[in-house]
Amino acid sequence: MAGEQGTNEAELIVTESRVTQVGEFNVRRALPTRGRRTVGPWCFIDHMGPATFSPEKSYDIAPHPHLGLQTVSWLFDGEILHRDSLGSEQLIRPGQMNLMTSGEGIAHSEENPGVTSGQLHGVQLWVALPSSTRHGPSAFEHHGALPKFDMSNAEATVLVGTVGNATSSARRDSEAVGLELKLKQGEHVVPLEKSFEYAMVVTSGGVVVDNTLVTPGHLAYLGRGRDEIRLTTSEESVAMLLRGVPFDETIMMWWNFVARTQDEISAAYESWMKGDERFGRVASTLARIEVGPPLWFRSNR
Ligand code: MN
Repeated sequence: MAGEQGTNEAELIVTESRVTQVGEFNVRRALPTRGRRTVGPWCFIDHMGPATFSPEKSYDIAPHPHLGLQTVSWLFDGEILHRDSLGSEQLIRPGQMNLMTSGEGIAHSEENPGVTSGQLHGVQLWVALPSSTRHGPSAFEHHGALPKFDMSNAEATVLVGTVGNATSSARRDSEAVGLELKLKQGEHVVPLEKSFEYAMVVTSGGVVVDNTLVTPGHLAYLGRGRDEIRLTTSEESVAMLLRGVPFDETIMMWWNFVARTQDEISAAYESWMKGDERFGRVASTLARIEVGPPLWFRSNR
């Protein structure tokens, strides 16, 4: 868990994502993996699509709860309608970000906004909240435009954090940075900071880093100790670059919950199954998602 990110060395560890089903769609889950729980506070990376919508196959994730994290939703193609128990209802399109902070509990749905054909392609990232805010109130932000900066033949968008003069207005509760890199064919040098750990997920095309080709369906863990990284592309490519301070708390993840102990997760599970006030109500026509209990769960706590 937290102890695995011990090195201060620049390194490159490429791991294969796990294919799993979310709604009607297969997604590539790049994090967590068996060997790695976190990159900084980033604790979950799902890459969905590109996939084609049809009336039989639409992206509809019914109301479900979250705990102890932020969800970052970012699309390359398509549209998703977000609804949550704070009353938020927000369509997200490519180039926009939905950022939901769960605090001690929130519920949301991610729905097809009536689209019957077209493409869906995007990522959902989770940021583990630090103990200073994980018991705080829930919140939702929509960012219709985010700051960009140009590199020699690439464009970067800052979803979270600050790079150079570009600062995202998105809330962040730790030193996390999340970038989208749109890379034209050629060589690219991206400035990094030695004290942070980094990882990259390629979402289209292919990116050579340290003489290794990284393609969609993988996590490229870059370690710490780099002040820049050289990327080479033989075609137009897109990558998400994530940064953070190695997370210094051991997190426990179960279903959609990020906590520290089994008891915390059991209490959240019980609240959701009872439908008590903790996670509230989502104004969705979809039936709420229910799952079986964690292995350790005992009722009548
Ligand atoms: Mn969710």
